[in-house]
This record gives sequence, structure tokens and C-alpha cells, in this order.
Amino acid sequence: MMQNPDSAVFYRNLANRPPTILRGEGVWLHDSDGRRYLDAVGGAAVVAIGHGVAEITEDLARQAAEIPYVYGASFTHRWQEELASRLIGKAPPNMRAAYIVSGGSEANETAIKMARQYFLHEGQPQRHKILSRRQGYHGITIATLSISGRTSWRQPFDPYLIHSRHVAPPYCYRCPFGKEPAGCGMACADDLETAILLEGPETVAAFFMEPVSGTSLAANVPPEGYLERVREICDRYGVLLVADEVLCGYGRTGAPFAIMHSGVEADLLTCGKAVGSGYTPLAAVLASDRVVDAFRRGGGEFTHGFTYSGHPLSCHVGVKVFDYMERHDLWERAAATGDLLHARLADLAGRHACIGEVRGRGMLAGIEFVADRASKRPFPTSVRFAERVVAAARRRGVLLLAGTPGVNHGRDGDQIQISPPYVMSEAELDLLVETLDAAIGEAVEEVIPALTR
Ligand code: PLP
Repeated sequence: MMQNPDSAVFYRNLANRPPTILRGEGVWLHDSDGRRYLDAVGGAAVVAIGHGVAEITEDLARQAAEIPYVYGASFTHRWQEELASRLIGKAPPNMRAAYIVSGGSEANETAIKMARQYFLHEGQPQRHKILSRRQGYHGITIATLSISGRTSWRQPFDPYLIHSRHVAPPYCYRCPFGKEPAGCGMACADDLETAILLEGPETVAAFFMEPVSGTSLAANVPPEGYLERVREICDRYGVLLVADEVLCGYGRTGAPFAIMHSGVEADLLTCGKAVGSGYTPLAAVLASDRVVDAFRRGGGEFTHGFTYSGHPLSCHVGVKVFDYMERHDLWERAAATGDLLHARLADLAGRHACIGEVRGRGMLAGIEFVADRASKRPFPTSVRFAERVVAAARRRGVLLLAGTPGVNHGRDGDQIQISPPYVMSEAELDLLVETLDAAIGEAVEEVIPALTR
């Protein structure tokens, strides 16, 4: 039954009206009941520069007075031009042009269509299939959900999802092939080749993957050499490689884009979240020389566009966020603060036997919980362990995100995501880890006696 007869909002869950946030400041959010929360997830890995940076919102008001809207099919404007050149300037060297949109799902939907139209321009109209990985997440629209592997979010909409083959993720903690990392031969990367051959290489357009995983395989970093192998396989069969950096990109892992930790170049790269840092809905597809040249040779047209593509206010905010990150060294900060975060989380793992793995890079960390560390046996789904940890932390004023259930190959498994704003101080980081320590302890106390009864 709906419990909020006083609200006209269709909430994410109509049985649960969330608290009202009045203001944000740095890593803190303040609600209307006078509570404050340490935002250790940056909303959903969105807020990089911190909440409530006044210079961004003041600029926004000035820009709105100048030109609030331009239709992208008819005009361009200064802020789109500036944001695109800043994005391309930070991106891997093969990136040439940015297609600016309003969110990560829009960016990936755009990348799907760009990959398809690339092959139409290239005279290979039979190439249309998109491959991706299990335990990957690329968005919530029908096409992007189709290529996502987040089982619980797919299930209700299964009848609408388009055909898309999913390959094994590079998930060494629970290797999909039951192997150990040493001497595994990287069967997970080779699974891409198997999928391409099964589909028919001449029909495959692109392979989408997150260089560091986000919500569905919290902060999983692929093993050394994985990205190189994937690139080789894509090249062997003429398939475009798409790096989804909506969550892991834009400084979060300590490099401008996560793929830059390797020397591998993608053909398309999507980014979002931190690009607008929550001050505006903003995301982009970065297209490489290869893709741009094909479009040029084919006459230039991309049959696509949203009403709000390249929105002036959003682009303006994007430029200001970029400049703020430059001035405050935030492109580099995530690496240093991230090292501290990972050191503290490693200590925490020493104190709690239920921590199976701590993973991640920079200001993106994931913790996978297990009922038994030696066998990696997950908690029963019914005890909702990760959700208990998140709830206990929230009662203590720290915000985390649970990725339950399904990390264990869609069956069960508990994980949480930690993705603070890059501006988090050492003292705030200590508070985060101390609170997490207490929250895990509380969840264990609630759950273990029930399990052993
Ligand atoms: N891609 C990745 C890797 C994401 O983590 C997300 C959102 O969490 C998306 C795409 C979808 O972005 P949005 O929610 O902005 O549509």
C-alpha cells in the first residue's frame, strides 16, 4: 500500500519515502530532520568535486541568463565546443570527437548506434550484434539493459530485451572457469573470441566492457594483460571495442580514464557521472579517429540525437567542473587518497573474517562479503548481508551502496560499493572506515547467531 499520500512523487519505491535533503557541502549531505550523512558513494559514484561548490552554481545562473537552450541539430554553441575539446584533450590520444548527452544510459545507447552506423558507413551492413559481459552494467534503457548483466534489474523486463550474448567477466575472485589466476591462460578474455565465433564474426559490431567494473561487480579490476588480449581479439575480427567509463572514468581510478592504466585504446569511450559531478545531467561518447574518419567518408551523418544533446547549461557546468578539477589537482587526487582508502580497507579485511575480497582502484572500492572465507561460500540471499551493512552504516550517518544480490554469477553473493567524492579528507576517510568497521560488526552479530542456530 502506498504510504505517502501527501506526496505526488512516484518514488523508486512507493513504500518508502526517502529523507529530504536540504543541502550538501563537500562530502556531507544534510537532511530536513537535522541529520547529516557522510556521502561515501558520491550519490552513485557521481559527485567528484564535492557537494555545494558555490562557484559552479553561480556560474550556472549567469549562463542561464545568456542562452539556456540550443537545439543541437540546428546550432552549436561555445560551451559544447569547449567541453568537447577539454574531454578530447584528457582522453587517450586516439580520441577525436565528443558526442554530448545527458546521462550514462544515453551515452551507451548512442555508442550502440554509433557502432552500428560506423559499419553501415564502412559497407558492412551485416554487422549489428553487440557483445558484453555478464556482471556488467551499461544502463537502464532497453538496449543498454539488454547488454547489461545485472540479473535482478533485467528480470522484470526480460520479454523486451534484445538479443545480446554475454561473455565471462574477468572476475578472478570467483573465476567463471574455476581457475586460479596463476596460469589461468586468461580464459575470460578468450571467451570473447568464442562468442564472436559463435555469433559469426561478420555479424558482430562491438564489444562493450567496463575497464574497471562498477555497480554489478563492485570495483573489479581485470588482471594484467586482459585489456590487451581483448583488444587483440577485437582487432582479429574487426570488432569495435567500447570502454564504458561512465562510472570508472574521469579521474575516479586515479587516471583521467581507467583504460589509461593500460596502453590499450578503445574505439569508443563513454563517460558520465563525474563529468557533471552531479551539478547537471551530463555524459558523453568519445569517438576515435577510426570512427570519425568512417563517418566522414560515409558523408558525415549520424542518424541520432536527443532533444537535450549538448545542452548549453550542462556543457557549461561540464567545463566548470573540468576546470575546477584542474585547479584543485583532482585528476591526480583520487590516486593518492585512493591508496589511503585501500590501505585502510585492507586493515579492515584483517579484522573481519566475512570480508572475502577488497578490490578496486583510486576512489572506487568494492568489498565482497562471504559466510566462509576459505570456501568463499556466500551468505544465504535471505539474510541480505550487504544491505544490513549499508543500513547499519546509514544509521551511523555514512552512505554506502549495496550491490546485492547476484555477484556470485547471478545466484547470490554480497558486495558493497565505496566511491567517495575525490575531495574526501584523511579524517573523513578515517570516519568512513571506522563506521564501516562498526557496521560490519553489527551485521555479523545480527546474522551469525541466526545462521548457526
Ligand atoms: N554505465 C555504467 C558503467 C554505469 O555505472 C551506469 C550507471 O550506474 C550507467 C552506464 C548508466 O548511467 P545513467 O544511470 O547515468 O544512465
